[in-house]
Amino acid sequence: MTEDKKSLNFLEQIIEEDLANGLPKDKLRFRFPPEPNGYLHIGHAASICLNFGLGLKYNAPVNLRFDDTNPAKEEQEYVDAIKFDVEWLGFKWDKELYSSDYFQQLYDWTLELIKEGKAYVDNQTSEEMAKQKGSPTEVGTDSPNRDRSIEENLDLFLRMKNGEFEEGSHVLRAKIDMKHVNMHMRDPILYRILKRKHHRTGNDWCIYPMYDWTHGESDYLEQVSHSICTLEFKSHRDLYDWYVDQVYDTTTLRPKQREFARRNLSYTVMSKRKLLQLVEEGVVNGWDDPRMPTISGLRRRGYTAESIKIFSETAGISKRDNVTDVALLEHCIKDDLNKTAPRVMAVLNPVKIIITNYPEEKEEFLDANYNDYEEGFGSRAVPFSREIYIEKEDFREEANKKFFRLKLGNEVRLKNAYIIKAESCLKDENGEITEIYCTYDEDSLSGSGTEASKRKVKGTLHWVSAKHAVKAEVRVYDRLFTDEAPDGHKDKDFKEFLNPDSLTVIDAFVEPSLKTANVLDRFQFQRLGYFCVDKDTTETKLVFNRTVPLRDSWAKKEK
Ligand code: ATP
Ligand code: MG
Repeated sequence: MTEDKKSLNFLEQIIEEDLANGLPKDKLRFRFPPEPNGYLHIGHAASICLNFGLGLKYNAPVNLRFDDTNPAKEEQEYVDAIKFDVEWLGFKWDKELYSSDYFQQLYDWTLELIKEGKAYVDNQTSEEMAKQKGSPTEVGTDSPNRDRSIEENLDLFLRMKNGEFEEGSHVLRAKIDMKHVNMHMRDPILYRILKRKHHRTGNDWCIYPMYDWTHGESDYLEQVSHSICTLEFKSHRDLYDWYVDQVYDTTTLRPKQREFARRNLSYTVMSKRKLLQLVEEGVVNGWDDPRMPTISGLRRRGYTAESIKIFSETAGISKRDNVTDVALLEHCIKDDLNKTAPRVMAVLNPVKIIITNYPEEKEEFLDANYNDYEEGFGSRAVPFSREIYIEKEDFREEANKKFFRLKLGNEVRLKNAYIIKAESCLKDENGEITEIYCTYDEDSLSGSGTEASKRKVKGTLHWVSAKHAVKAEVRVYDRLFTDEAPDGHKDKDFKEFLNPDSLTVIDAFVEPSLKTANVLDRFQFQRLGYFCVDKDTTETKLVFNRTVPLRDSWAKKEK
């Protein structure tokens, strides 16, 4: 299918219409506008992939603009993390911009508004103002301060700027229409007093512009053609347009706000405020805890940038609010790692096997492919010896015919190695099996070409040589919440749905080739799932995170 014939999403259709109506293609310009008050999450990834995707599609610049108008919540740490994540996803912004760079321009425009009688200082309490605002079914009433003289407004606003008033005592409001059907148009606040140090402008300002006043004007200053935001801003569009119209010069481009539905994901929360709460209360170990829906958490968990992009594309964009099943995200990473991750062996829940007819001092280094089905992965040497570990679940003293793993009197193949037969086992006082005694068929080595090596036995097990095994800490993650929509309950706090078993730490044995693995290297632990090296790994301690198990709940649902 050619690009032209692929069906366009509704935002692309809007752009195509604008182009057809005469907007020159070289005027197309997009932006991704994060507020640096937290780390980016998988919802932001939807917006990033959308905006940068449009940039790539139309060969148009995309700016990274930090919407930094609230010094109470914003920090440089977040700016750095956001830049890192966007780059990691593989996107390049045209310019790195900050709304705070426009504070002076916004202030100058505001003085013009006051002079035109379109803004006034209000010193009522926020309760009084809220009461006058009315409701969706009831018009608002005018503030008693609405008709202050221009001179008085200029004087009060200057004094607000000079720090003469307390926080919360005065605001500057746009004088639009208290009876407007759209509540956002009922004399919205332009500026509030905040005596806070800003992460970029320091103490230069103690009045800060509100989001709506800043956003559209920033788009206009940057000549963004399509300002794409999420649905909750749809009702702000009138105000966006009103503000842009106050400064719009017809020789320039007038930006256009269009909305799409937020990405919501099942079994998690996505609001930065709530994610921050989980971090601050120590429910998780930081913004990059592998259970978090943040990009940094997913990265640490073992997600690739590619899988996040494919997820964003597959989930698509929508005009209506909806929830995407987290199983789709898990499917995307599993699919990617299936193609890219080398296969290795690790035993998470070990029990020891002693191969009684294997010489005590002998050791062999068996050549094992990193991938038996695909070229180009190479191979490594896997040590074999008389004592090995297998998973406890892979052995039973007795079992029915459907159990194709190891049972007494039966044979299995050890992956890349020999066929063994279970002869007897040893148990402790609690009946727990502690050792399994097996014999091996010396001629059955995989790939050796002998008749015995071609012998078909039902099961193949992964294993590690006990003498050579490397201890590793494996962190097995489950969903952070037990409820599909933890923040969707009116009467319950989202934290009531935290999954107490979202993290299980296991002491495992892994094959020695993994000793040299680097942080973020990803592997398939055969028969278990995909795992990656955690940043807590040190010279003496290997730590792995389980990214996803092999079982794919999404693929099952699709059938
Ligand atoms: P939160 O409410 O969690 O703080 P936010 O919308 O305030 O999120 P911003 O940093 O302002 O976060 O968002 C930057 C951009 O990413 C905005 O254009 C916003 O609309 C978009 N965005 C944020 N969350 C999502 C989401 N869940 N799905 C899609 N886009 C999102
Ligand atoms: Mg926001």
